[in-house]
Parts: sequence; structure tokens; C-alpha cells
Amino acid sequence: MEKCRIAIYDRKPETLKFLDSFFRGRKEYLPTIFNDAAQFEKSLKAGAHCSVILGTRGCLEEAVPVVKRSSVIAMVEDDLTGGLAQVMKHNIESYLLAPFNKEDLEYKLRLVRNRQRIAKGLFGKVKDLEAIVELSYLMSSTLDPKEVLNFMVKKIGETIDVSRCSIIGLEQGEKRFAEVVSSCEPAEFKELKIDLKKYPEIRKAHRLGKTVIIRDALRDPLMKPVSAIVKSMDIKAIMVIPILYRDEVIGSLFLRTSRSSRHFTEREINFCQEIARAAVNPLYNAFLFERLIKEKTRLERLSITDYLTGAYNIRYLYHRLEDEFQRAKRYGSPLGCIMFDLDYFKKINDTYGHKAGDMVLREFCQIVKKQIRKTDVFARYGGEEFVMLLIQTGAEGAMVEGRRLRETIKSHRFKALGDRAGITVSMGISVYPDQRISLSDDLITLADDALFKAKNQGRDRMVLA
Ligand code: GH3
Ligand code: MG
Ligand code: MG
Repeated sequence: MEKCRIAIYDRKPETLKFLDSFFRGRKEYLPTIFNDAAQFEKSLKAGAHCSVILGTRGCLEEAVPVVKRSSVIAMVEDDLTGGLAQVMKHNIESYLLAPFNKEDLEYKLRLVRNRQRIAKGLFGKVKDLEAIVELSYLMSSTLDPKEVLNFMVKKIGETIDVSRCSIIGLEQGEKRFAEVVSSCEPAEFKELKIDLKKYPEIRKAHRLGKTVIIRDALRDPLMKPVSAIVKSMDIKAIMVIPILYRDEVIGSLFLRTSRSSRHFTEREINFCQEIARAAVNPLYNAFLFERLIKEKTRLERLSITDYLTGAYNIRYLYHRLEDEFQRAKRYGSPLGCIMFDLDYFKKINDTYGHKAGDMVLREFCQIVKKQIRKTDVFARYGGEEFVMLLIQTGAEGAMVEGRRLRETIKSHRFKALGDRAGITVSMGISVYPDQRISLSDDLITLADDALFKAKNQGRDRMVLA
């Protein structure tokens, strides 16, 4: 138990003797006797004492300006009338009249301490309420759930002396890992994902849907399986409050104190439970938000991708063609375009089946995608026709690239066809700038014309427009 520090400012030997014999047997008090006014004032200002005992006889008059915020017990001796007058004049809350009696002092000290405890509790509750009111303002003023969660852990960190405070989120269906959504702790301890195997206290809170409090992590049987980890860390008490959304645990509020600290008080537990209740919606929304963003990204990718081959689709091709064409025009940079058509593809279908044909198309795209530059745009134009835009690439570069691709494909053995047959492609190449090209579409038309020529000239070749 915390000792009650008492500052004594008195000069009368009899009173000091009485106080000395009073405190000698009482271990819960830690008295300090001052006979120097400056020292006394300095010590009070540092806030080291919870109560003050003053003698009258000038000491009181001297010390009153200094002791304003402390609980004072005055020792009134000799001139009882004068002493009492002084006590009243200065609004001293407790006093003893000589001859002093130990039971009386014990009683007065108990009163003073009770009053202090109540005041402290009330002050704490007011602070908690302030935090909760502030939180509710924030929740109605921001749409960002993560910001709310950050505020929560920050507030807890300010209100309670903890070494770690996090809000942990459980992904749907995830049993083993949990995500740290928000935390206040030194950056070096910050984890984004935690392995629940190492946290039996969190698992228990999640399983029961109830608050779990560990008073001493080193001794609690629940922590035994991870005692090595606990020993290596500075942990004393732990509090885990599950966060439930419609009876389902979606995460928890997780707090730890360090060994030099103490156990959580009833008030702190209540406060955290209040916060955990308020965290339900932001936490749920944070997950929802994340899931929506992921889903949006997935849909966006899907909307520009050809379903069969994984290459870009024609919609994306036209969108990029316009962009790149305008850019090339603006900066006077070249833009190459290759149109591919697989040779005799109907025969592949007829010989190996449509499914095998599909597989060939897929594999073909994988090979091409692996070989081209990241900046180039490779899209399925239709059926077994493809278009590639080569950014900042003139005729020579496009020819080199086309030749390289043709050779790779020609020498490749497609899984769906076994070793029995290879595939060739015909290519038509167009390059901006060219006097026949004034619109982006002209680039495609020219490449298409060139491709037609390549086919007519016998296929398995490349023609520059
Ligand atoms: P070439 O281009 O050399 O003149 O001969 P080709 O046999 O490839 O002729 P064409 O371009 O007229 O025929 C394209 C064939 O590609 C027709 C169609 O069956 C096939 N094809 C188009 N899209 C797909 C597809 O998605 N899957 C499969 N398996 N076949 C496709
Ligand atoms: Mg073809
Ligand atoms: Mg074709």
C-alpha cells in the first residue's frame, strides 16, 4: 500500500515529541519534520506530501500561504482561544487541542485521508467524463474510423499509466492472427499483426466475450505457457476488454502496465470498458472501410482485365491509347503499336479442342507479359488478336521488340499442345509520328493494315506500316 506522506512544520519540542511517538508505530505514514520555512515550502510545492501538520505559535501564520492546496491539521496548544481564532481565520479543516491525544490524531488523519480519496476519485471521474464527451464530439465530427480509434488509445494513454495500449481488430474468420488497428506505445514496439498464440489473455477474452484482468503476469497461471516471453518483457498487469459487434467479437482493447507500475483500479477498468463500448462502431467501420477499398481495387482491376487471358481489355486499351497518343503529341515523343494475330488458330481449335485453344491464349499472354516492359500496354483486341502499345518507342525499337516476341513464341512449346505443335504470330506495326496518323485511332488502323499484309505475304512475319 502506498504510504501517506506527511509534512510537519512545528517548533515546539513537546508537540514534536508527541508526534514522534505517534508516528513511530504507524508504518502507513511517512512523516518529515521541517524546521526551516524555505525547505518546507519547497517540499510542499513539489507536491510530495498528502497532508500537513502545523503547530500554531507562528508556524501556522508563517506557513498558511504555502499550504493552500494541502490538507492541514493544526495543533493548537497553550493559547487555545488565540489558536482557535487562527484556525478559523485561515479556514483550517482539522485541528487538535492540547493536551493531544493519539486516538484523536488518528481519527483526524483518517478523515483527511478519506476526504482526499473521495476528491481524487471525483477528480478522476470528471476527467474520464471529459474524455468521453470529447470522444463523442470527435465521433460525430469525423468520418474516419481510424482517427477515432487513434484518439481512444491516446486518451487512455493520457488517463491511465500504461506501458502499452492498443486496439486490436480480428479479421472475419481469422483465429490465429489479429491486427493492431491503433496503438500508443514506443515506435519500436509497434506491431501491425500479432500472433494470438503468444497472447493467451487475449484469446481468453475473445473466447468468453468478457473482460480479462491479469494482476501479475509473472504469477498468473493463464500466462504460464508464455512465461518465457513475459519474463523477458517489462509487464505487470494486463487488461483485455473484448469489443463486440452484435454478439460477435470483432476485436479488443488491450492494456499493459510495466513492472514498476501497479494494478488497474476499479475506476480505470470502468473507464476502459466505457471506451471499448464506444469503439465498437469505429472498429467495425474501419474493417468495413478496408474491405470496401479492397473490393473497389479488385473491381477496378477486374473492369480493365480480359477475363480469359488476364491481359488488359479493349476498353482499357482505348483509354490508354488516347492518353498516350495525346502525351506523345504534346512531348513530340514516339509511340509504337504492334497488332498481333495468331496464325491458323482455327486449326488449333479444330485439332485440340476449344478448351485447349483457350489455354493456349492464356499461356500466350503470360509469355508476352513476362517479356515486355512494365510501361508497355498489352491488351486483348478480340478473339486471338492482341495490341501492344510501346511507350516512347520508335520504329526501330518496335521492330526489335516484335522480333524478340515472335521468336519467343515460335520456340515456345505450349502445354495444351504438348510437343506436337508450335504457334506462330503475324504482326503489323505502326509508329507515331507518321503523316497518315492524326487521330489515335489511325495508329490502330495502320497496324491493322500492316497485319493484313503480313497475313497475305504468308503469315509468321512482321510488317511495318
Ligand atoms: P489466320 O489468322 O492465320 O488467318 O487464321 P485463323 O484460323 O487464326 O483465322 P481467324 O482469325 O479467322 O480465326 C480466329 C479463330 O480464333 C476463330 C475462333 O474459333 C478462334 N478464337 C477466337 N477467340 C477464341 C477464344 O477465346 N478461344 C478459342 N479457343 N478460340 C478462339
Ligand atoms: Mg488468326
Ligand atoms: Mg483473327
